Amino acid sequence: MKNKGLLFDKDGTLLEFHQMWLQVAHGAAQEILHTFEADNKNSLADSKALLAAIGVYGDHVDNHGLLASNPVEDTASAWYQLMHLTIDEEKFSQHVKNVFNQQVEDNPSLIQALPGVKDKLIELKKRGFKLGVATADTKNATIYSLVQSQLHDLFDFVGYSDGDIEPKPAPALLTAFCEHCNLAPQHVIMFGDTVSDMHFGRNAGAATIGVLTGTATTEELKPHADHILNSVADFDTHLTSYLN
Ligand SMILES: [Mg+2]
Repeated sequence: MKNKGLLFDKDGTLLEFHQMWLQVAHGAAQEILHTFEADNKNSLADSKALLAAIGVYGDHVDNHGLLASNPVEDTASAWYQLMHLTIDEEKFSQHVKNVFNQQVEDNPSLIQALPGVKDKLIELKKRGFKLGVATADTKNATIYSLVQSQLHDLFDFVGYSDGDIEPKPAPALLTAFCEHCNLAPQHVIMFGDTVSDMHFGRNAGAATIGVLTGTATTEELKPHADHILNSVADFDTHLTSYLN
């Protein structure tokens, strides 16, 4: 078999998404409102408005929203505009990033691999697949959550967005995975729980599998995916000969 690679989005694909990120988003919004209370007086943006701006409505997370699909810099930018702040935007962005990282580290018990995912990854690694992660999350939060969920050692490549590489859906992270593991993109399958992940895989020339463990429904993912599975845990390696 030629080298084959399997690249995974992190949240909602490998790790439990909802409980974790709802908690983190609520905590971060509160913290930012508290810290910038004086500067926010012009806009009177409240927690509900900040959460809606990143696609969080009560307990629902929109899979096209910034929280589910984009790096934290985009959340910072949306909040900066909503709050009409006078502080330097780059400083604010760094502050938001720190607050999100801190919120992740403050909630270690919520960081969990989805059921059956760890065993599936161990099986795939034994079969000789190169395994990678491509996430819109920051470096610190990515490594912390992969170590915490006991998945970190299973990957040949961990790609994150920390302002130094173009984030998904631009193909850069998949290209980096291929270079690192000596793979051709047509021998890679990208797994993800958002439409943005599917665009990312296709933009880079890989096959795509949408999973239903995160924010999107079958109807949302189907037009953009080569195949849909309930979970990464359900992946059957026979699919590789059909997809690649
Ligand atoms: Mg995701």
